[in-house]
Amino acid sequence: MKILKERIQKDGVALTDRILKVDSFINHQIDPQLMYEIGEEFAEYFKKYNITKVLTIEASGISMAVMTGLHLKVPVVFAKKHEALNLDKDLYLSKVFSFTKNKEYLIKVSKHYIDATDNVLIIDDFLANGKAAIGLADIVKQAEAKVCGIGIVIEKDFQDGGKILREQGFDVKSLAIIESLCDGNVSFK
Ligand code: 5GP
Repeated sequence: MKILKERIQKDGVALTDRILKVDSFINHQIDPQLMYEIGEEFAEYFKKYNITKVLTIEASGISMAVMTGLHLKVPVVFAKKHEALNLDKDLYLSKVFSFTKNKEYLIKVSKHYIDATDNVLIIDDFLANGKAAIGLADIVKQAEAKVCGIGIVIEKDFQDGGKILREQGFDVKSLAIIESLCDGNVSFK
């Protein structure tokens, strides 16, 4: 996606040779117009699957997932990472190891929001080792629903997530694929 790659080149910061910071338009401040266009791109690609629900993980996946849901005209569910007193008790749970936080956490989705009739599209901001997407796919499996595809805004090709998910047969669509982040330079595949 040309405008996304241009934006990454302009405003993305390679913090290390493995982590890209995109706080100025995705992860802290959000560019709504860019999110709208990202949602449109995902909707166009995944419309062939008769998607009934978009699933993401809080917090950074929400903005692009909502825009995808808007274009597909379906509800958006986000897995919660944090404990909350008002969370339903009847939950699907899955463990996810966070690449950026270097710790494991439990993701939770209420059983009210995904069921066996759903065709689910998983959306996330980054794909590194694939743990977040695999945790979300596990929740869809527990619901006996179907994962129709996985939409990723930025995939890092030098980490294994993309390979693992594609080998498992998932239709993974990444809008920008980064080949390397060497010496502060972002190179696309
Ligand atoms: P994975 O689960 O694929 O290992 O990592 C994906 C998750 O980690 C995403 O949900 C994202 O929040 C975070 N993440 C992974 N790599 C990066 C990165 O280079 N930059 C940022 N900002 N987040 C990342």
